Amino acid sequence: MVFHVLTLFPEMIRNGCDNSILKRAMANGLIEVHPVDIRQFTQDRHGKVDDYPYGGGAGMLMQAQPVFDAWRSLQDAEGVKKPVRTVYVTPQGKPFTQSLAQELSEEEELILLCGHYEGIDERVLEEVVTDRVSIGDYVLTGGELPAMVMIDAVSRLIPGVLNNEESAETESFDNDLLEYPQYSRPEEWHGRRVPEELLSGDHKRIRNWRLERAKERTREFRPDLYEKYAARQEIAEILLGHKKENAYMIDNLQRGVAEILYTAGDQVIASNPGAGVIELCCDSTEAGRELLAHLPEDWHLILHNFEPLNEILTKEYGMEVHASCYQSVYTQRVSLPVAHKDIRRFPMEALPYAVENYENGDENYLRQRIQKGELFAAYVDGEIAGFAGMHDDGSLGILYVDPKFRRLKLGSSLASYLVNKALERGGIPYAHIRENNIASLKMQEKMGLYTGAKKVFWLCRGKSGQMK
Ligand code: SAM
Repeated sequence: MVFHVLTLFPEMIRNGCDNSILKRAMANGLIEVHPVDIRQFTQDRHGKVDDYPYGGGAGMLMQAQPVFDAWRSLQDAEGVKKPVRTVYVTPQGKPFTQSLAQELSEEEELILLCGHYEGIDERVLEEVVTDRVSIGDYVLTGGELPAMVMIDAVSRLIPGVLNNEESAETESFDNDLLEYPQYSRPEEWHGRRVPEELLSGDHKRIRNWRLERAKERTREFRPDLYEKYAARQEIAEILLGHKKENAYMIDNLQRGVAEILYTAGDQVIASNPGAGVIELCCDSTEAGRELLAHLPEDWHLILHNFEPLNEILTKEYGMEVHASCYQSVYTQRVSLPVAHKDIRRFPMEALPYAVENYENGDENYLRQRIQKGELFAAYVDGEIAGFAGMHDDGSLGILYVDPKFRRLKLGSSLASYLVNKALERGGIPYAHIRENNIASLKMQEKMGLYTGAKKVFWLCRGKSGQMK
């Protein structure tokens, strides 16, 4: 990923990136950081880039011309605007959060604009800025530290920037929880012992202990976050009454990847921004209409489990039914045995193999799945013999086994592996199987997944190419 930083103090950016993990990421070609010195672009003979604000008041303001020309130097030679997101770091922006860092880490290029003095002439901001972002409710002397904060938080989410020892499976803010307390050697220090649970070797006990401590400290230190977490869990608990029908919503709420938009008892509408999908669970037309009144502004995909809603969505909302699926759900909490032992994260170098062999082989989608570590490969004698992964909505799928290796039952090993992964991350393992795919439904049943009585429906608005 490439960061361009428009600044009056390029050295601050250079020095800030010249250490530890960011330095290594640059050396490995995983990120590039290019400071652009705004002063180089001024047309003022004396190199001035600021002036007094109209209307009076303390301090100086960065002028529009040098900022604009510095920004334009990043556009291509014909002066055609590239659609590169341009973020002005400002205390007046939307808060910089882990989810915004995640969203930005998916860009290939980013322009960060740093203000100084009292800020920047509003007219140039109106012309070039796509996002205004604040790193907190306090005022700093300049935007260089905020830009560094953003580069750091975004870079560590780029695959390969953190090595295995540095990357954590769960971190603060995942699912709106702060991370649990951690301990290293020795077992006793200043008379304080490491909690027994962590020494027990019992993974389930350790997982439960960590979750409880994470909840405790979030409740204490960040009640605002805890409230969001608790609200989702409470609704997921209600929906558990019909686990097989509501699995997608329960899973997304439990894992904190969906935000509730509106709820009335067990009728829920939520948004899963990572997958770009609006999800509904309801069991009457009346409730469906009530939920649809809470659709946000920008949406094109809907997933729901109440068939009569299709008529409303197609006739009144101009949507198309893209898929009718059965939902196969693993209802237990115990892991499944995985017969084939050599299953690992799918390597990016093998992307062409996945594109060639997966029937809905959209390259960008598969690249994103690999980048997020959600695609897994089964190896036989060092060769990829099949793969399987999680879709961006959390469902299990993307299954392929090379015909050469079909006798080895790799399909069920890969599927069991995915079930276990889904359990580890705290949700419900579920798959959406197209209604006519009887073979797949049979395989799910053999593995111990139950198919719900109600079908689920994927509808899209606009280009159906947006569906995977
Ligand atoms: N007069 C401005 C206001 O009251 O909103 C504050 C200007 S500040 C002194 C100078 C520059 O520092 C800003 O233009 C911005 O780029 C950066 N900055 C200061 N605090 C920031 C924050 N909390 N988040 C992001 N950028 C910040």
